[in-house]
Amino acid sequence: MNKVICPYCGSGLSRKGGYRYSEADGRLISKRFKCLECGRGFSIPISDDVKPNSLPRILLLDIETAPMEVYVWGLYKQFIPHGNVIKDWFILSWAAKWLYDDEILSSIVTPKEAIKRQDRRVMAEIWTLLDEADIIIGHNVDSFDERKIKARFILNKIPPPTPYRTIDTLKVARREFSLSSYKQDYITKRFDLNKKIDTSAFGGLDLWKRCVSGDKEALDIMLKYNKQDIRGLEDVYLKLRPYMRNHPNLGVMMDEDACPNCGSEHLEDTDAFYYTSASKFPVLRCQSCQTPYIRKAKALPRKTTLRSVAK
Ligand SMILES: [Zn+2]
Ligand SMILES: [Zn+2]
Repeated sequence: MNKVICPYCGSGLSRKGGYRYSEADGRLISKRFKCLECGRGFSIPISDDVKPNSLPRILLLDIETAPMEVYVWGLYKQFIPHGNVIKDWFILSWAAKWLYDDEILSSIVTPKEAIKRQDRRVMAEIWTLLDEADIIIGHNVDSFDERKIKARFILNKIPPPTPYRTIDTLKVARREFSLSSYKQDYITKRFDLNKKIDTSAFGGLDLWKRCVSGDKEALDIMLKYNKQDIRGLEDVYLKLRPYMRNHPNLGVMMDEDACPNCGSEHLEDTDAFYYTSASKFPVLRCQSCQTPYIRKAKALPRKTTLRSVAK
């Protein structure tokens, strides 16, 4: 079986894009593919025995939550016991995008659901995405989004989705770089990437207050804001990706000798080696995303082992 290779750029990273049928007799003639590196579409005759690309399902995700309403005795340095909570927080909306796809998926509570603080429908949609994903990417996803989502799953009596790995771009940014701020907002601005909409233009907290009161216009703005963030998140992820040292290893997930960070098999040798106290490994560079790749022996296709035989 042959690999699906892009005829324009030679990349082995593509996604299935449906089928093409003969106009004359409706017979299936070719499979369509979209190259993930150069973005061009191409087709392969149905008679060719090709092994489709098995890039894991990678989801970029971001949620917006509604604030709590609480009783307080003052405005300065308050400790608020849980008994003072009048209305607890819930999830207002989500926006997501499969890596390399153009379409942004999203959803928000209806005005009626907002007033009732009912996010069960929205949570069921998030569940379907998480269940399908192999990797979830988010800015602060580990301590914020994922834990908020799981809290709303269990409160809505929704069982956990199948396991996935996460990539927290906030953690990566903090670990790898010294930047003046680690807010997604700042990173996108600093690297001249997709800009986040400034919520202060909508009156800051006022927008959230209007959302929980079921204001349709405010909910629309919230969703637009949420969707815009996803574009920024994808840009931040792609920008930081070559520097990620603990990216879930895509080569292992795909069972290929491929770039651990992007899954491309377009690798080139360098003169460099990486040393541990016991071993020496060759260093390659991914020609698709520029990640340096330390090739450990177990990543190579299985070889025949030579065994010494007693004479
Ligand atoms: Zn291509
Ligand atoms: Zn790569």
